[in-house]
Amino acid sequence: MGGEPKLQKDGDLDKEMKKTRTRFPPSPSGYLHIGGARTALFNWLLARHDGGEFILRIEDTDVARSTSESVDAILEALEWLGIDWDEGPYFQSQRIEIYNEYIQKLIDTGKAYYCTCTPETLEEKRKTALARGEKPKYDGTCRDKGLSWSPGAVVRFRSPQTGTTVVEDVIKGNVVFENRELDDLIIQRSDGTPTYNFAVVVDDISMNINTVIRGDDHLNNTPRQILLYNALEYPLPVFGHVPMVLGSDRSRLSKRHGAMSVTAYRDMGYLPQALINYLVRLGWSYGNQEFFTVDELIEKFSLENIGRSAGMFNPEKLLAINAEHIRFSSPEELLPHLKPFLKEFNIESDEYLCQAIRTLQTRSKTLIDMAKGAAFYFRERIEYEEKAASKFLRPQIKGVLQGLLQKLKSASTFDETTLENVFVELMEETGLKLGKIAQPVRVALTGGTVSPGIFEIMSVLGRDRVLSRLHAAIRFIESSSEN
Ligand code: GLU
Repeated sequence: MGGEPKLQKDGDLDKEMKKTRTRFPPSPSGYLHIGGARTALFNWLLARHDGGEFILRIEDTDVARSTSESVDAILEALEWLGIDWDEGPYFQSQRIEIYNEYIQKLIDTGKAYYCTCTPETLEEKRKTALARGEKPKYDGTCRDKGLSWSPGAVVRFRSPQTGTTVVEDVIKGNVVFENRELDDLIIQRSDGTPTYNFAVVVDDISMNINTVIRGDDHLNNTPRQILLYNALEYPLPVFGHVPMVLGSDRSRLSKRHGAMSVTAYRDMGYLPQALINYLVRLGWSYGNQEFFTVDELIEKFSLENIGRSAGMFNPEKLLAINAEHIRFSSPEELLPHLKPFLKEFNIESDEYLCQAIRTLQTRSKTLIDMAKGAAFYFRERIEYEEKAASKFLRPQIKGVLQGLLQKLKSASTFDETTLENVFVELMEETGLKLGKIAQPVRVALTGGTVSPGIFEIMSVLGRDRVLSRLHAAIRFIESSSEN
């Protein structure tokens, strides 16, 4: 069973067997949320760090809750993050025959059996147990009846009733479970579909997964899965259960702690590498280092540095990391991420975009900030903010702007140093301080009073645009003083 690799030499086989194979198996019942993305990321980084493989599997056997829209949303979010997979996506719904094969194997060896207890009887027994203050548990009615299939029958796993099962967790250490706490779990429902614990084990076995890193909300499932591995006579993978991400109030992360879906962060102007950086640090550390590029994470990531305590989601910190990534990325790297936001401001131009971006990198926390800040570069006509215009574009500054215009026309070059010298000259001639000249010029060039440095923006805009915007401002002053 399964897809054993076809290899020639023993050495190859050895290497192939040892290769780290991790997986991410989301249930498609919603978008990819922050916690899920972190789990995906840990598994992906581990595979990439080890030169192994990362497998994507969609756990869609719960037909009532699974939707193809969710599958699309999850894939879209992973793709945006740059989390690529080497195999898959596999769909559990298309693997029913494989599960049946393994179920048959367990039935044939007496390790699983048919059970015909009705849901009503089970519910009644459950209530009685609860009323007696006992933990409800399947009482083994059909365990030794040797039943064969009949309509409505389920298949149960014959779980050992004594002894213990130890989860040797690479993050939590050994966690011991009493087998008597684990009843004979249903592995196949009456409609023929496998249950979660069984499908996961069969998938992980047949996909040669040797490392399972997931949220610690699954820790209680792991002893059951271990017993299934044992029954199917397959070696166990390495298990690691990562503490859940919590909100700032230490409660389980939810919508009230901020946006939960990965793509919401994309739409709010976050860079994928910033979200990755932030999510990894929620549960993994490397000394005191906070800022990581993705390449650096691949190089440095290891299971040993996953922490035992829960990370707390802090939107402000995420924003700060985003600002840092915006600052340290090259304009060329930012450009594809920025473009959709520029479109919202009707900016399609590629012309001198990278230079414009460079002037905004230290001033933008998100790509939305950046797109807003970049808009003035690309306007055909500058519209002045009312307050800015009435304060700075006044008749007494007209002469200064005209003087500046003349000097700029004849300036030898348009680099920042030349421009600064032009301003110094003008300050000397007019006796005005820099701010008194720079603010009106800023309003003329950008429409507002806040922008990157005046020499920076002038040099990026270039002589023609600067001259025409100064002309327009002078005309504006003239026409407003006529009225
Ligand atoms: N489908 C399960 C989930 O989304 C996967 C759990 C696992 O990693 O085994 O939680």
